[in-house]
Amino acid sequence: MAVTVLLAVSPIAGCATSRAASSHGHDPVRTTAPNRAATTPTRATVPTTRPMPLAGKVVVLDPGHNGANGSDTVTIDSLVWNGRAEEACDTTGTETDAGYTEALFNWNVAEFLKADLEAAGASVVLTRTSNVGVGPCITQRTAIGNAAHADAALSIHADGGPADGRGFAILEPIPDGPNDAVIGASQELGHDLAEAFPSTGMPTSSYDGVNGIVARDDLAGLNLTSVPKVFIECGNMRNSVDAALLTSTPWQLQAAAAISTGLVTFLTG
Ligand SMILES: [Zn+2]
Repeated sequence: MAVTVLLAVSPIAGCATSRAASSHGHDPVRTTAPNRAATTPTRATVPTTRPMPLAGKVVVLDPGHNGANGSDTVTIDSLVWNGRAEEACDTTGTETDAGYTEALFNWNVAEFLKADLEAAGASVVLTRTSNVGVGPCITQRTAIGNAAHADAALSIHADGGPADGRGFAILEPIPDGPNDAVIGASQELGHDLAEAFPSTGMPTSSYDGVNGIVARDDLAGLNLTSVPKVFIECGNMRNSVDAALLTSTPWQLQAAAAISTGLVTFLTG
């Protein structure tokens, strides 16, 4: 009789145990925290497989001008040879009607862009280390790109154009000797940036170049480069609509992201 009782009880106990075990992962009540915790380790491995399209690439970013250039006109006005003619070491850059300086805009975008590019695996070199200094001269900025054997170099600016003019422009080199070998690559870089930048909402320039592209032979940064290089004028600081974008941190982040997209296209194409 005792055996019978045990036999009668055991299946019930076993069934209960089995139900408890099988409900793990199937019972709606039980598929909350414990199961999510169990899947977390698998999800945590995802970041390690993030693509690094710019691994091994060197990008030199040149934030135009510098915040204290106006304090040392002797240095900034000194003449340097730009490959075709003498040109001032640098200028103060432009500013909006409200006094937001181009030097600060250039610096902010360069910082945001540096972070984007490094996240994609690139090594990034800046031509200045802050926005509170003077210089370096435009020839030194170009030499930094050349010495780094950059896969791409970019001078970041915003323009001081006519108040009724809007938009961005890409400035590209014209062959003059030192830059002969990188004209085609620079044009390709300019094309890729011009394709990417309208995603920011900034139109191509209404007053400079054709479809946002301008060939220039009067800039040391383009005349003396031995690596693929262009300038980008991200907008017109003297235009109120452009100025509202240029002085906005969210827009500066967008501009950096768009430039990063263009650089990735150029460097991986
Ligand atoms: Zn500038």
